[in-house]
Amino acid sequence: MKPYKLLTPGPLTTTRSVKEEMLLDRCTWDDEYKAITQKIRSQLLNFAGAKPEQYTVVLMQGSGTFAVESVMTSVISGRDKVLILTNGAYGERLVKMAQYIGLNYEEYCVHCDEHPEASAIRACLDADEQITHIAMVHCETTTGILNPLEMVAGIAREYGKTLIVDAMSSFGGIEIDVKALGIDFLISSANKCIQGVPGFGFVIAKLAKLENCAGIARSLSLDLYDQWKGMDKDGKWRFTSPTHAVAAFAKAIDELIDEGGIPSRFARYSRNNRLLRERMGELGIRSYIPTEMQSPIITTFLYPNESFRFEEFYRFVKDRGYVIYPGKLTDADTFRIGNIGEIYEEDIERLCGIVADYLEGEGR
Ligand SMILES: *Cc1c(COP(=O)(O)O)cnc(C)c1O
Repeated sequence: MKPYKLLTPGPLTTTRSVKEEMLLDRCTWDDEYKAITQKIRSQLLNFAGAKPEQYTVVLMQGSGTFAVESVMTSVISGRDKVLILTNGAYGERLVKMAQYIGLNYEEYCVHCDEHPEASAIRACLDADEQITHIAMVHCETTTGILNPLEMVAGIAREYGKTLIVDAMSSFGGIEIDVKALGIDFLISSANKCIQGVPGFGFVIAKLAKLENCAGIARSLSLDLYDQWKGMDKDGKWRFTSPTHAVAAFAKAIDELIDEGGIPSRFARYSRNNRLLRERMGELGIRSYIPTEMQSPIITTFLYPNESFRFEEFYRFVKDRGYVIYPGKLTDADTFRIGNIGEIYEEDIERLCGIVADYLEGEGR
């Protein structure tokens, strides 16, 4: 296989040094390994601006979706009801989970290029006092729209609702002050903006809420409360832990700190994204989400013309060292380009040069 860089929203391009951490086979029972788990948990807490007196971190095997589902199944009981805000596929996935688990839920859905409105959320909460939880996606990776977390968090605090945030594709790349916002459960995974490899997700949880979750889970392997109780003792995972991915993640955290922490990574991603949208615009390829709602993570682009063929374009770009992402919208022909991971402005310049070559050749 010819090597290429990933311009996708995760798994993403990692550094060689992160990959090299996986060359050692580690023992899950060993104290040194358990110490890695504990260190990761406390570093993630720091990134979230949270203190161990109020918050904890639980790591969960599987892809990001497993971690989201562990929250949905472990913290919302049969007596509760969740309001789910949706404007894309990951919001819809929360709804699907609610259906699988059999949760009481209500969906407030807006179009995928729109933000949910404060007045509408208030109206939902005013109309239905049974609602106890609000669940939302921060960066909706379907389009790259960045949802108004502060607004929703403010309403959740005001109404005293438990807030669940899928911050999968934003945590580590965008500063989120979990404590100040009063987020109760925030979910992300190893292979997004922290720049590790796939294998597990993590949940930053408010202790006062998590402590009440014993016995709620409808799934053994996804029981967040049990996982926390086990892991909190000494860093031992309940079931086989993804040792290679955990070691790589520890290295990725070190590298995030070396880069200057989340503010510096946010700045790099933002520069990448601005340059990408600028250059593509110059080539006549417009982005789908208005600039003021666009995240610095991933961008949805409209096809430049009617004869544009994504598969051919994809192959052309891949042959030249970059892999991009198809679109996920039903009402517009789009494709997506991620700019997170070990990606710099020179990659964006190179990519846009390749796109220019493609469009020139196609016109001939
Ligand atoms: C990547 C992602 C997920 C998790 O996807 P997996 O394929 O299960 O890792 C969930 N929500 C959002 C917003 C994501 O970007």
